[in-house]
Amino acid sequence: MYENFNITLFIVAGIIIYFYFKNDNNNQLGGNGTSSEFSSSESSGELSDKPFKYKKATIYGGGVFLLLIVIGVIFYYIGNSNCEECNHLSTNKSNNKVAYATNCIDLRFIDESHTFLEKMFGKNSYESFVVPGPSLALYTKTVDNNKVKLDDDFYKAWIKGLYFARKLHNAEFIVLIDHEDCGYYKERYKTDNGFNKNFTDLNNSEKISIQNNTMKETIDQLVVDLRQFKDPYVPNSDLNFNGMKIYGYFVNLDGIYTKVYERDI
Ligand SMILES: [Zn+2]
Repeated sequence: MYENFNITLFIVAGIIIYFYFKNDNNNQLGGNGTSSEFSSSESSGELSDKPFKYKKATIYGGGVFLLLIVIGVIFYYIGNSNCEECNHLSTNKSNNKVAYATNCIDLRFIDESHTFLEKMFGKNSYESFVVPGPSLALYTKTVDNNKVKLDDDFYKAWIKGLYFARKLHNAEFIVLIDHEDCGYYKERYKTDNGFNKNFTDLNNSEKISIQNNTMKETIDQLVVDLRQFKDPYVPNSDLNFNGMKIYGYFVNLDGIYTKVYERDI
């Protein structure tokens, strides 16, 4: 949204600059030798009226132009301020590194997630695997001393997606994005799934804390799993995930992204 607004501002500013110089040229070419500085409508006749108008237009146009630039800079700043990590990560863009990104199915965050990921990795530099409540969908619980996946089907599909992201595109980053007010947490984080509280009974800061802790536990477990990964398709394959980085982000309803956790595989 901010990007489009900025483009509009710059187009308007461009039009103003165009007319500014157009006026300037007209004045110089068709002028009668009278300097605009010494002209006024009172002391001059019809011919010297033009430079005075030109002077007014110049001041007005210049003022509007400067105002637009200031507004443009402010919106550029606001547009980029929701991504603390973008500047840091965008330095990797030149290396053309690919990310395997996972965001929630929540429709409110689809476009925003793509904007965020494009800022981080550049256009066409990330794969998007969409799954409800990423950190919880991939969560591993301990039941009777065994580690089990809360949603095994999601986990298996996600791992296979990662496998091909690595094999085909040499993906070097994994990004999980959770968000505030997640419906999947409301559905699945419940006492009857083995948790000691129902997500819906918590206040907002408790919910965020639960989600961030789940994100950390999930990423820790993914690191363990991925270090032990065996290629399911090619016997004795040397494909592995070593050297990949995993980032966990949380985005609130205002679209502000916060990095929750980071691990190397
Ligand atoms: Zn969600």
